[in-house]
Amino acid sequence: MSSKYVARKNITKPAKNIICILAPNPSPMTFKGTNTYIIDDGELAIIDPGPSNKEHFGNILEKISGRPVKYIFLTHSHIDHSPLADKLSAELNTPIYGYGPSDAGLSSTMLSLIKNGYKSGAEGIDYQFKPDHLIKNNERFKLNDTVISAIHTPGHMGNHICFQYDKILFSGDHVMGWATSMVSPPYGDLTQFMASCRLLQTKEFDLFLPGHGDPVKNPSERLNFLINHRLDRERQIKETIKNTPLNSLEITEIIYTEIDNSLIPAATRNVFAHLIDLNERGIIEFDGEISERSKVNLLHK
Ligand SMILES: [Zn+2]
Repeated sequence: MSSKYVARKNITKPAKNIICILAPNPSPMTFKGTNTYIIDDGELAIIDPGPSNKEHFGNILEKISGRPVKYIFLTHSHIDHSPLADKLSAELNTPIYGYGPSDAGLSSTMLSLIKNGYKSGAEGIDYQFKPDHLIKNNERFKLNDTVISAIHTPGHMGNHICFQYDKILFSGDHVMGWATSMVSPPYGDLTQFMASCRLLQTKEFDLFLPGHGDPVKNPSERLNFLINHRLDRERQIKETIKNTPLNSLEITEIIYTEIDNSLIPAATRNVFAHLIDLNERGIIEFDGEISERSKVNLLHK
């Protein structure tokens, strides 16, 4: 067989009418790279154009082969998902659809952390992102005879959207199979993340197509795992501060005994995400301002 008939491994067909193009941006944060999806239901939609990368841009255009594209959808505005949207939009003359700019959908607590200059969880944000059309929760988009529905799923970012197509969910970075989602304040919010997981649990899906990694074939099991994983961590944190007020770093050093030193800042941010959530729920309180440095007291044991 000539090589031109062999499928290129950066292009897969995870479901009927759906093509996945893998962007060449592998890293510890992006796994094998960003998945850009094209839905072809007679009419075309693109989900997550990906990073600004010439080769990836060319691969997307090659797959579209001159056909009109009705929508460019964004699950969220991290720099591995959204920067190529503008270039693609200009080339294809297709509007960009997203929930809003990078600070859209954030809680007042997170907005005040940003206002006060808390930046440590803000890397990877695409501050330029500006959709042409602001998607509302549950908004429906017609693609030929079928419908794509938007489900606002804040948590990984405030502007995170999942897109439902039949019983398939394009789950972005909210639910992935290879790793638990990063939830990093101030743009990531654990209270919202848990609520979004529970919202998806009330719906029925056959398959999740995530922003990174392989299709998730057991969606409800995976959601249960993610929720329980977070609840386990929460129990561990509450146990640690039962008798002594501690701050995020002190808790991290007690809980994460087996990780490399270089991962301590990320782990501290994860603990901080939990503390903000516990504070929102009235389970703990910060001694002073909400910050990684402030010690927290457990109010309900
Ligand atoms: Zn992301």
